[in-house]
Amino acid sequence: MTTSEPAFWRKCNSCKKSIGFSTRYYVCSVSTCNGQRTGYVFCSVPCFEIHLPGARHKDAAAMESHSPSASPTREPQKTIIKSSTPTSSSQRAQMPRETLIIASRLKEYIQARAEMNTSAGVMDVLSDYVRVICDRAVDNARAEGRKTVLERDMDFLKK
Ligand SMILES: [Zn+2]
Ligand SMILES: [Zn+2]
Repeated sequence: MTTSEPAFWRKCNSCKKSIGFSTRYYVCSVSTCNGQRTGYVFCSVPCFEIHLPGARHKDAAAMESHSPSASPTREPQKTIIKSSTPTSSSQRAQMPRETLIIASRLKEYIQARAEMNTSAGVMDVLSDYVRVICDRAVDNARAEGRKTVLERDMDFLKK
């Protein structure tokens, strides 16, 4: 016998047919048949009647009953997997979206390089890129068990 749970509630004591959960079934009114120890259950009245000759009851009746609703829900237990990384993507979204670019310096660079102006929105876009790059570098540093982000953690940019 395996320990796997049966897909039914009980088996009829007469025909051995399985009685499902939340199903009507019958028990014998005689205590020696419906007691905890014996606990005869029958899928139908005919099946109940089948046991009568052998049981030699003086006076017996079939009692209609109802099997319990499906055994405790067999949903797989939810395992709470704790995030080992403090900067999981969900938390990243909550990070303050500050500008990580020094606007004046960048504007100076573009002005010197191409004599062009730079709109303020460019700082936000660049800041987002910097964040993405830093997050990856942090992951790389953590993978090596370091507490310091090194230049080589950004080597992926060269690929
Ligand atoms: Zn039966
Ligand atoms: Zn009986």
